[in-house]
Amino acid sequence: MKAVKVPVRADFHMHTEFSGDSDAPVRAMLDAALEKGMESVCITDHFDEDYPEDRETGRNPFLFDIDRYFQVLEGLREEYAGRIDVRIGVELGLQPHLGERYHVLTGKKPFDFVIGSLHLIHGMDPYDRIIFQGRSDAEVYREAFQATLENLEKIKDFDVLGHIDYVVRYGTHQAQEYSYRAFSDEIDGILKKVIDMGKGIELNTGGLKYGLGFCNPHPDVIRRYRELGGEIITVGSDAHCPEHAAYDFEKAGAILEACGFRYYTEYRGRRPIFKQLG
Ligand SMILES: [Zn+2]
Ligand SMILES: [Zn+2]
Repeated sequence: MKAVKVPVRADFHMHTEFSGDSDAPVRAMLDAALEKGMESVCITDHFDEDYPEDRETGRNPFLFDIDRYFQVLEGLREEYAGRIDVRIGVELGLQPHLGERYHVLTGKKPFDFVIGSLHLIHGMDPYDRIIFQGRSDAEVYREAFQATLENLEKIKDFDVLGHIDYVVRYGTHQAQEYSYRAFSDEIDGILKKVIDMGKGIELNTGGLKYGLGFCNPHPDVIRRYRELGGEIITVGSDAHCPEHAAYDFEKAGAILEACGFRYYTEYRGRRPIFKQLG
């Protein structure tokens, strides 16, 4: 089957059964990405050191055997060579005290790409919505942005900052109390720090698929990043199942262009590669 032509041909945020919240076989994710016209794909399974234990299993759901991960993915990289470029990545759950552990982890294995994401705000996952109880959404969003900045001050071993405003997905009234303008001090602080560190951000299409109505971060944030001089931006579906591979990538290309980008970024061996849109 001939692949369709899409403006962005690299899905750099995808989960598989190595993540505690996905059952998708790696092969199924690669096949789906191929079908969507991707030329390269980066598998970025969750690795959250110090995530609260699952009540049923008593275990941290977001840890996996890194050696086996590399063994499986390296095998598939060979097998799919010539059809789709398979890169090996990881999505690290950032918390300020984990800097040293992530430094060791990323030094130990030849990752192509590392996403650093905020999943816990002072130990609480906004996904559970407990953190919103008795508080305004705006208060929690501000806390999430401040926690993101704290992470950036303590952790250096990542390439792009994942889904910057994803906390908004779980707010009681979602985007009602959210705009770039309302949090411009916090968001500018994050964007400037990322640029200073020589790192990038991602355009995560997950927000589009979960009914938020915009990607993460919001296009106003992406535009601001560009204005501040940001150049590195990867695009990821954050798919946890094959149907969501390269989700809304046509839209992602249009958003990047509207925000002033002519290129998107992919990574190999932790080095950015710039690709022309379209
Ligand atoms: Zn994430
Ligand atoms: Zn993810």
